[in-house]
Amino acid sequence: MNKKIAVLAGDGIGPEIMQGTLRVLNVIAQKFNHHFEYLEGKIGGQAYEIYRSHCPVETLQICHDADAILFGSVGGPVNEQHLAKWKNCELNSILKLRQHFNLNINIRPIKVYPALITSSPLKAEVIHQGVDYLIFRELSGGLYFGQHEQFIADNRRSAKDECIYLEEQILSIAHAAFKAAMLRTKKICSVDKANVLATSKLWREVFNETAKTYPEVQLTHMLIDNCVMQMIINPCQFDVVVTENMFGDIISDLAAALPGSLGLIPSVSLNKEGRGLYEPSGGSAPDIAGKGIANPCAQILSAAMMLRYSFGMNTEAAIIEKAVQTIFAEGIVTKDLLRNQEKWVTSTVLINALIANINKH
Ligand code: NAD
Repeated sequence: MNKKIAVLAGDGIGPEIMQGTLRVLNVIAQKFNHHFEYLEGKIGGQAYEIYRSHCPVETLQICHDADAILFGSVGGPVNEQHLAKWKNCELNSILKLRQHFNLNINIRPIKVYPALITSSPLKAEVIHQGVDYLIFRELSGGLYFGQHEQFIADNRRSAKDECIYLEEQILSIAHAAFKAAMLRTKKICSVDKANVLATSKLWREVFNETAKTYPEVQLTHMLIDNCVMQMIINPCQFDVVVTENMFGDIISDLAAALPGSLGLIPSVSLNKEGRGLYEPSGGSAPDIAGKGIANPCAQILSAAMMLRYSFGMNTEAAIIEKAVQTIFAEGIVTKDLLRNQEKWVTSTVLINALIANINKH
């Protein structure tokens, strides 16, 4: 298969972990007789230096020309002098791409690797049955896209934020989540605040109606306040979790803490036509950038998701995911996963081990 991939490495650790990820993709291409063409574009602070825009039209064009977008991270070097120009880096680049391509569904897999159970902040007895679930977050509606206003009412400072959901926005993510559940354990937990919010009541109605199309899938509903508690006290119960924009923003960061490092968590934002932007869940990590110690796994696993969701290369994706699990079991980990002074390896050594493992298959 021939595929074009827009490669937006970005700032901080972005370029170093992207480089390793492309090495892994090249090994997969060679093994399976694919041809991946990388179209490199500037994004974030790196783009601002050249184009005076965090997401220039040149980069958008590259993304249009590609079959999928592989994104690193943004957030240029932060210092007082440059603060103003970097401040909106993330907002201006990721949100612009999400809006430009109408990316309405974000999927974040949350997995605690058996070999890394001690890296999780949760006790082993809480997670020993296995934490492995997907969070589906609606990206195009809700509070973040309503009118926001501060005003004076009766001489008192006041503010309001508008929250709107359209049936079609809910239907789109509902079908995506049900389809994913069909391929897993056929269990969905939809998270809302239907005891209070009108948007949540509509959300629940649409989910109940959609469930009739997928009779094999067991749909349950959970209120957001209970959900955040359950994700800590009993995270093993979840398989596919689906929720609206702001709740998803919050629970996906809460859940990101469970595996023990941001460097482990990939994600994808998809639109209705299946175009995807694949990115690690963390940012540019300026505290460790350039030291060769960043964990490249979130970026590599994002590339694996790209193979699966955008290119239908399930076997190739599974080989990468299995290799990551195997090297962890062999004790090959980067510094972020170690609490004490145990043995850790650099990003390059980890990638070499991963490639060696992939080549064994
Ligand atoms: P961050 O995610 O960059 O870093 C938080 C902590 O996690 C740091 O200690 C960092 O070293 C660690 N970390 C993150 N990724 C890691 C990896 N792959 N390996 C090892 N450790 C890793 O968040 P921050 O420090 O709050 O933000 C830094 C910059 O990144 C800011 O400019 C912010 O706006 C931006 N940001 C960008 C994105 C994105 O590109 N999607 C997301 C979040 C933050």
